[in-house]
Amino acid sequence: MHILLVRFSSMGDVVLQTATVNWLKSLLGSDLRLTFLTSSEFVELLEGHQEIHRVIGFHRRKGEKWENLVQRLKDLHKNDPIDLILDLHGTLRSLRLKVSLWTIPALTVDKRRWERFLLTKVRNKFLKKFFEHPFFGLSPQVERIIEDFENIFSDSFGKKRTQSFREGPHDELTSLAPFLTTEISRPYVVLAPSASFVPKRWPVVSFVELSKKLLHETNYDVVVLAGKEDTFCEAFNEVSSDRLHQLQGKTTLKESMAFLSKAKLCIGNDSGMNHIAEAYGVPSLTLFGPTDPRFGFRPHGTKSRILEKELSCRPCSTTGKKPCHRERHFCMEEMTVEEVFKNVKEMLDQI
Ligand code: SF4
Repeated sequence: MHILLVRFSSMGDVVLQTATVNWLKSLLGSDLRLTFLTSSEFVELLEGHQEIHRVIGFHRRKGEKWENLVQRLKDLHKNDPIDLILDLHGTLRSLRLKVSLWTIPALTVDKRRWERFLLTKVRNKFLKKFFEHPFFGLSPQVERIIEDFENIFSDSFGKKRTQSFREGPHDELTSLAPFLTTEISRPYVVLAPSASFVPKRWPVVSFVELSKKLLHETNYDVVVLAGKEDTFCEAFNEVSSDRLHQLQGKTTLKESMAFLSKAKLCIGNDSGMNHIAEAYGVPSLTLFGPTDPRFGFRPHGTKSRILEKELSCRPCSTTGKKPCHRERHFCMEEMTVEEVFKNVKEMLDQI
């Protein structure tokens, strides 16, 4: 059975969908042939994955026309017929794709948009609880996606999933670790100060102070990972220590993945880096600001933790994109370096 999985972005969501891949594999075994369609900047995340036979990148940022992508998929369908499209994105873009490939049966993820929207609008504590259950619960979003699809698939194949999303590292991602080109001989923790949207970021000055505390009060090295565009990480230049490895803009995505795979701990915002760390079985400390773990993107590892402030304005948007409407960025600024460090220390002591 040839299935086309569609998830264009973002980085963390694409990583999380490897759980769906594992589930499909456990369900269909050697009958499964998977093609994964994603944005070209995330192709690296999936290349080499044992269960994904083909990764197709949409080069939108490089100017690829939509019609060109559709034609590529039609050509693929002609040469290697697609039996089913699993739309894991559920956006207008993926809808447009399904319309263009209308002859192929498709299933679409239910992202619980309405419930998520309500959670950002309802400010009353009691009512919030009402909206959390039964719509949300606390299960990760991918668990919910799998549960939804499972009901449909189990009718067709009579099989249930045996593996839980929460169990252990994603082995097939671990196999990507050899891409590391620079070795750090001492044990280290990763700081991931970036996030797709600015309101989701803990202030970089706090990350810098945290790095100083880690260097002074623990024996761990500190590795800073962020993209080329995250020039705000230059703030780390004030830290003079050969145990701080400031790699912002210096690693490919695959190298970042390799560094994360060998870290003792990853500390970051509600962002893709923490999801990648978890996929390797590395505990993460995730700092939540305008978004909410109840949206389903909380860390799932048993050794991972989250930190968040209880504020009436939280969550204020479903993705963290919306600019802060308060006089100060309370959700992140009120998270002190001391409390983050205390959690880091406790987590490191348990390793
Ligand atoms: S302080 Fe409140 S309004 Fe501002 S970004 Fe955070 S959650 Fe949203």
